[in-house]
Amino acid sequence: MVAATTQSLTEGLMAEGVIPFGYELDEEHAMLRDSIRKFAREVVMRGAAERDARGEFPAEIIKQLGDMGYQGICVPPEYGGSGMDTLASAIVVEELSYADASVGVINSVQNSLVIDPVLRFANDDQKSRWLPRMASGEWLNAFSLSEAGSGSDAGAMSCSAKLDGDHWVINGTKMWVTNGAEADAILLFVRTEPTERRSASCLLVEKKTPGLTVGKHEDKLGIRGSSTTELIFENCRVSAANLVGQRGQGLKIALTGIGGGRLGIAAQAIGIAQCALDRAASYALQRKQFGKSLSEFQAIQWKIADMSVRIAASRALLYRACDLKGADDPDLMRVGAMVKVFASETASFCANQAIQVFGGIGYCREEVAERLLRDAKITEIYEGTSEMQRLTVAEAIIKDPACVLPT
Ligand SMILES: Cc1cc2nc3c(=O)[nH]c(=O)nc-3n(C[C@H](O)[C@H](O)[C@H](O)COP(=O)(O)OP(=O)(O)OC[C@H]3O[C@@H](n4cnc5c(N)ncnc54)[C@H](O)[C@@H]3O)c2cc1C
Repeated sequence: MVAATTQSLTEGLMAEGVIPFGYELDEEHAMLRDSIRKFAREVVMRGAAERDARGEFPAEIIKQLGDMGYQGICVPPEYGGSGMDTLASAIVVEELSYADASVGVINSVQNSLVIDPVLRFANDDQKSRWLPRMASGEWLNAFSLSEAGSGSDAGAMSCSAKLDGDHWVINGTKMWVTNGAEADAILLFVRTEPTERRSASCLLVEKKTPGLTVGKHEDKLGIRGSSTTELIFENCRVSAANLVGQRGQGLKIALTGIGGGRLGIAAQAIGIAQCALDRAASYALQRKQFGKSLSEFQAIQWKIADMSVRIAASRALLYRACDLKGADDPDLMRVGAMVKVFASETASFCANQAIQVFGGIGYCREEVAERLLRDAKITEIYEGTSEMQRLTVAEAIIKDPACVLPT
């Protein structure tokens, strides 16, 4: 009941321009935003609560995203993709995450963590074999770096691959793989030089390869519509032709993927935060206590103001980071870490504030805000925790204090 009322009120406020959405985009990006927003609000939002409750993967929605070109948004047209830029990808993830953050991360992993490194590091033969399948949505992608013993310290991985003739033989267990249960293609990072601690290589492994099985499925606090699993490799043989980049270049490829992936997670966080703000603002207008609407109380106004300030700042940083990525600017490392930490903490802040504005009903499954809070938390953890982002920002500034000055 609450959900239905606030949703229609929110739409009214958006149409009247009462609830701001942010920035002047050029015509192409504005059209993209409008069309993905329509799909997200009309199709993705429907059933999000049920998928969350059941821990159900949104298979039909992901198929539709593939058919519409959103699963390969940055793939060049010669490989069957939409040929758009990083900003376009961020807009898609934000709008999808506004409706369902699980769908947002599934799309973000597909594009930022897998397609982008393939575009940058794969050879022409690999690109023509893999990209058309990824771009059409025939292949769902996963990115597998983390293990039980190596998370923030990715170089400590133990899953290994040995060259045997013209095949790599992989053994070990990976953990925390988003899309692990459903993916068709996995960008996998393995140790290939057992004596060198910080050396890894990158392989593209098809899920159907013998010797690869899906292990434990995690039962999570949030983003419950996306799967997170172990992947177990037992003498899994992968053609040497599937080595991405050079042998020993794996950590560089992984960090490049995560460097872009952070922008996707920041976009996911902004989508969650914007949804929290819209719901809180419309409820504050509608709910009356002491003969007044909540929106007339200054304590509530401050919450709305604080939420909107943080969202606007997050989006400005994100768009700046998208520009840097498009220009291959090395300062992306610092700015990407800044937006990841700020946007993710903004998402948790806004979801928390939204629950407070709703009062008791905000604490219940009936209102979307409680799911937003559960979904927001992961954005502070995956693709580099907030602590690791702060380390990255601090290291960049200590190395070159002038990097904070505007160019
Ligand atoms: C739902 C979900 C989906 C995920 N999806 C993927 C995926 O698709 N692919 C993939 O490869 N991984 C994935 N991950 C893994 C994720 O990236 C890691 O969980 C994350 O990098 C943190 O690693 P960890 O869990 O091992 O924590 P740890 O590295 O053990 O860290 C624990 C705590 O210590 C802090 N810490 C660690 N080192 C330092 C330091 N040097 N200074 C200060 N603080 C420090 C951390 O910030 C954190 O607070 C996923 C995880 C989850 C929960």
